[in-house]
Amino acid sequence: MAELAPYAVSEHNTRGRNMREEAPFGRSEFQRDRDRIVHSTAFRRLEYKTQVFVNHEGDLFRTRLTHSIEVAQIARSIARHLKLNEDLVEAISLAHDLGHTPFGHAGQDALNACMKDYGGFEHNLQSLRVVDVLEEHYAAFDGLNLCFETREGILKHCALESAARLGAVGERFINRQRPSLEAQIANLADEIAYNNHDVDDGLRSGLLTLEQLADVNLFAGHLDAVRLAYPRLDDRRLIHETKRRMINTLVTDLIRETEKNIQAHAVCDIAEVRAAPLLAAFSAEVYGQNRELKAFLHTNLYRHYRVMRMSAKARRIISDLFHAFMEESRLLPPQFHRQADADCARAVSDYIAGMTDRYAIREHRRIFAVEET
Ligand code: MG
Repeated sequence: MAELAPYAVSEHNTRGRNMREEAPFGRSEFQRDRDRIVHSTAFRRLEYKTQVFVNHEGDLFRTRLTHSIEVAQIARSIARHLKLNEDLVEAISLAHDLGHTPFGHAGQDALNACMKDYGGFEHNLQSLRVVDVLEEHYAAFDGLNLCFETREGILKHCALESAARLGAVGERFINRQRPSLEAQIANLADEIAYNNHDVDDGLRSGLLTLEQLADVNLFAGHLDAVRLAYPRLDDRRLIHETKRRMINTLVTDLIRETEKNIQAHAVCDIAEVRAAPLLAAFSAEVYGQNRELKAFLHTNLYRHYRVMRMSAKARRIISDLFHAFMEESRLLPPQFHRQADADCARAVSDYIAGMTDRYAIREHRRIFAVEET
């Protein structure tokens, strides 16, 4: 790896793993984290989990897997430019959605509502739970035993009462400190990725139109420029060319503004990064454009009646499953029985959160349809 900036996370300043392990041969500690994430079961499940469109709605829409790969790509470009730890941003990016329920945000809201009296459900916390506890692969420990900085990056947000029982990784929420720059970058790369691919998927699905997007400054500016330069371009290329220019604007702006903030706060090491305000940021102008795009997507895509119908179905499936398992925990697969005896709601929540979209639909049929077994 190229030389790292003094404020980057490195193998020399990492806070390490909960269980001590020998240093890996031929790869860095953070490459090892990335590799463990890629080999996890939860990672493979991302292929069949909804981003916005449910998996069976079409083969070309983003899933959580392709979303996570796009996030990693964007985050790595930024990290390399800023001389940050590219392996760490990649690990965080690939793991950031591991705790997502089936059916995207509708699924998460439904499960959170079901878990209201049992400690709630937060997908960030669940992602951490997946890598800390739920993956059962290794002989010597539960979970993936990832480095502190990878776990810190996965835990983007967390309620104060949860932070208090999470130990070291929760401390920053209590002390009002920031995570590493690598975590900050992965977080913003997530946002760049989903805003742009949701525009693309929205157009492909026909739920959004180019005419509507002409009101969104970030999109319209690039769309006009592409049309001017290539007047005969078909819509498919026009959309892709516009999208790549939008991503480029956001990435370039983020790099420049972050460099400026790093200089202004004169951070020299990771401790100073944690004590400084958030350093990874867009400029005021691009921040405003990005917020406008988000608001547009919220009104026109995420609240589109066809998306709302799917979300309503998803909520029903999740809450039906939850209540059926809570009423009779022996309906759970045997590997959950022991956990269910100790804490039924959490066992049910772990089982449901781990499901893919299509598994949840099938499981719902198996439990509620008389003709299924
Ligand atoms: Mg994401």
